Amino acid sequence: MAREHGTDFISAGHGGLENGVRDTGARIRGTTEAQEMIALRDAVVPELRSRGYDVLSVPDDLSLTQSIDWINARAQSGAIALEIHAAEFANQATRGATVYHIANNRARSEQAELLLSALLKEVPQLPSRGVRPDTAAGTGRLAFCRETIPPALLIEIAYLTNPTDFALLTQRRLDFAIGLANGLAAWSRAITGSSPTPPGPAVVEYPTINIAINGGLYREKGIIISGNAYLPIDLADQLGINLSQSEAIRRVRYRGVVYVKAVDLRPFSVSVGWEASTRTLQLTTASALKICPGSIDVIMSHGNATEAHLTSFLRSENNTALDLFPDLPKIYREEATIEGVDYDIAFCQMCVETDFYAFRASCVLSKTTSQGLPTGPGTMPLLIALALASEPRFSTSKLTPAPNRWPATKLILDLTLLNGGLRP
Ligand SMILES: [Zn+2]
Repeated sequence: MAREHGTDFISAGHGGLENGVRDTGARIRGTTEAQEMIALRDAVVPELRSRGYDVLSVPDDLSLTQSIDWINARAQSGAIALEIHAAEFANQATRGATVYHIANNRARSEQAELLLSALLKEVPQLPSRGVRPDTAAGTGRLAFCRETIPPALLIEIAYLTNPTDFALLTQRRLDFAIGLANGLAAWSRAITGSSPTPPGPAVVEYPTINIAINGGLYREKGIIISGNAYLPIDLADQLGINLSQSEAIRRVRYRGVVYVKAVDLRPFSVSVGWEASTRTLQLTTASALKICPGSIDVIMSHGNATEAHLTSFLRSENNTALDLFPDLPKIYREEATIEGVDYDIAFCQMCVETDFYAFRASCVLSKTTSQGLPTGPGTMPLLIALALASEPRFSTSKLTPAPNRWPATKLILDLTLLNGGLRP
């Protein structure tokens, strides 16, 4: 039905016989590039078909030359071809996705951009290495980009040698697949100027999957629709997630059960993973995420936030909070680490105590510095503390040295000791 829209050819890189030897591509951590790319391709194909695209998978046992010939023998106008690869590199820190196109072809370069940006939208944790002409590839030219008759791109989707990329690719395969499907759809639209009409509702049978919550198997099953994992909406209720206000969340009724897409739980602090070998959707709730087991609410502990986290947290409530003390997040992390205090809690407590730093610190500080207090490196905590202490709401006479009043009280106490009893 979608012939006028052209066929999308998808080739999973490697897997065929090259000069009589089975080509597996990169071999990393008990898997191979060929195996991972076949699994990814198998997730992309149904996703595109469900949207009405005519998709052909290049048979996996073909060599590179045979794959190109296979596509060329079937290609009609409007077709596009993508080969998917994963990279390996000696430097394990190298990561990200690259899309290669035939050199000196502006249109193809723009189509490569479409594909890459669609992928990164679904997997924003994946760094972009940009689109590149095939002359920039290690071999200086890519036969797939040059000898395939339909417009062709080759993606190196991630680095198997980088642990983060590896985890993303193997645990979030569905997101990669949806990103590629979106990219192929956008690319196809750019070539043909139209999109196919998705097939109408038919009597369908969705494959079932297992669901594990915080490591334990759930009694009910989920289903796969168009490459997406869905779970019974009752399960969301049981996890304490109220979806009734979320109009945007698509509900699917299937055999008397209402399902929602698993990834729609992500905004509710549920991590969503996929274990391919057992076809199990893995949900982990925030309370079970082992950010700091047993110490999430313990003050004498270590923090987890970065300076950037603390900065954006404070700025979200008071954009000018750090104009005066740009190093505040850094100081909190340093000082709290020395004290053995969880700086996440300390920082939050400070935000509560000072209304996100909306008090008159600036006036107080300028007054106190003009009175001859020390300035320079290392004195910022003292100045902050003095500013806090000088604020009537935090005067020492009102001090209640309870742990939950850290850090204002803690800093004021320190300062009081240092100065032999400071009074505002
Ligand atoms: Zn490869």
